[in-house]
Amino acid sequence: MTDVYERLAKHLDNLPAGFPATDSGVELRILKQLFTPEEAEAATALTLFPEPADGVAKKLGKNECDVEPLLFSMSRKGLIGRSGKEQYHYMAANFIMGIWEYHVNSLDERLIRDVNEYIPQIWEKSWAKQKTQQKRVIPVSKSIPVEMNIMPYEKAETIIKKQSKIVVVPCICRKEHAMAGHGCGKPLEVCLMLGANAVFYEENNIGRSITQEEALEILNKAGEAGLVLQPSNSQKPFVICMCCGCCCFVLKNLNKMDAPAKIACTNYYVTVGKNDCTGCGDCEDICQMGAITVGDGSAGVNLDRCIGCGLCVTRCEFHAIRLVEKEESKKYTIPGNAVEQYMKIARERGL
Ligand code: SF4
Ligand code: SF4
Ligand code: SF4
Repeated sequence: MTDVYERLAKHLDNLPAGFPATDSGVELRILKQLFTPEEAEAATALTLFPEPADGVAKKLGKNECDVEPLLFSMSRKGLIGRSGKEQYHYMAANFIMGIWEYHVNSLDERLIRDVNEYIPQIWEKSWAKQKTQQKRVIPVSKSIPVEMNIMPYEKAETIIKKQSKIVVVPCICRKEHAMAGHGCGKPLEVCLMLGANAVFYEENNIGRSITQEEALEILNKAGEAGLVLQPSNSQKPFVICMCCGCCCFVLKNLNKMDAPAKIACTNYYVTVGKNDCTGCGDCEDICQMGAITVGDGSAGVNLDRCIGCGLCVTRCEFHAIRLVEKEESKKYTIPGNAVEQYMKIARERGL
């Protein structure tokens, strides 16, 4: 019989976010650090659709009285998801975004090393081949021209103002980089969990509940620090990430590509008005994607690299850069909600 960790790895790989096998077996090392064999077995019985413990117990051929406490404890450890109040329902969690992020407060050196070895391989074998990514890029609000009629779900402020529950969580990418001795010093407490996702994080003591005003303040600070806004990839996002090109697992891997704009889910890019540009270079410094080069006294944008984050627009005091919306035929259609998003990814991966 196949090893339980191999079965769990295969099971996680069949979820939309993927968990591909590697030659080194680093993915199995990660699972062994996180799951006991009993937990690994239980996790293989879960899907992304929430179900009560008795259903899971039947699949496992075990007693509900034994399975319920196991599932609850696994959900508290961030190995699986949990929903509901009166009666809990349990579901599988993607490795990223999911299990890895739930461990932001329980990282150790070995886990960080193994996950950093693994992420580039997940990128190459899985994410880089997908049209629909788990995150999308939205422009920072100050970069949006007043005349541009932007959709509400592409504006972070509007998304935040619709939320009744927001929990802020430390950014795991910057935290693990800092623990490994190469932190960038950019703000740490910035990941905004929204709605039911926020409730899960709060109940598991992973983050702290904040008001809309506090969330808007965090958004402002992120803009000042030059962080890219990346909500989860749906019109009703369950998280807004605020990312730096040096630590973020998405931006870091996008950065290694010749044409990140072809992979990033974005509906914007920028253009430079040569007559207004003084060649000061501020936009080149802030761009996390290396999309801008200043030469011959003015800035040039490599549109293959521009992910439309708008940071350069906010930095240009001469108003020489403008955010532009892609033409309709080149626009990316944003899934309505997380279920649509993950169904789309699953279809693209042939699951
Ligand atoms: S994706 Fe961005 S905000 Fe989220 S944890 Fe990574 S760097 Fe931080
Ligand atoms: S910040 Fe503005 S003025 Fe300075 S180089 Fe960039 S586009 Fe030109
Ligand atoms: S040029 Fe760079 S900073 Fe400006 S919008 Fe594109 S990716 Fe963002």
